[in-house]
Amino acid sequence: MKKIVVSSNNEGKIKEIKEILHQLKFEILKKSDMDLEGVEVEETGDTLEQNAMLKARALKNLLSDEYLVLADDTGLYVDYLDGKPGLYTARFAGEHATDEDNRKKLLKELEGVEYEKRTAYFKTAIALVEDGKREIITEGICKGHIAEEERGEHGFGYDFLFIPEGYDKTFSELEHDVKNSISHRRRALENLKNELIKLK
Ligand code: IMP
Repeated sequence: MKKIVVSSNNEGKIKEIKEILHQLKFEILKKSDMDLEGVEVEETGDTLEQNAMLKARALKNLLSDEYLVLADDTGLYVDYLDGKPGLYTARFAGEHATDEDNRKKLLKELEGVEYEKRTAYFKTAIALVEDGKREIITEGICKGHIAEEERGEHGFGYDFLFIPEGYDKTFSELEHDVKNSISHRRRALENLKNELIKLK
């Protein structure tokens, strides 16, 4: 059975990846399973795709042939802010900003902007590197609006502010499974699954 090492220790991400790639019979491992925890890759690319690929290739270089590496990168693109924070979504409020700092900054920048103009989308790029010859990159998008205040109890990042298209609740207010069935990451992973099926 081929093994995929995910460039993350986030249990939520690992679970989602396991569920979606289940039928392809890969063993899914996380960074800490491989003693790679201290390895940090600088995200110096100009796009999410480049950053995901940088991370995947860097880890792949540290591992033997039997392992494939999967890495992702996500950004939130707000139309009223000309696509900001985009590539800088994790660092919107500064280099060491918390998720809460980032959400506060976003609300401030959109203060007084009416709902119709608060459109935004999440985008995830996923890179899978098998060897120098076989590299796959996919993306997934989830469109929606930025709420006027934080709403909901669970989730992370911008979940408390993002209302996906077709719903009137934020990702935080929606059931976990509902979010995971429509999310940008889910769509990128489904696209990856389709590419992997073609290769098999
Ligand atoms: P990363 O690429 O997964 O590290 O995410 C980059 C930034 O996007 C971080 O600030 C995350 O909190 C945020 N983010 C990524 N995915 C989601 C999501 O599904 N909901 C809310 N925020 C997210």
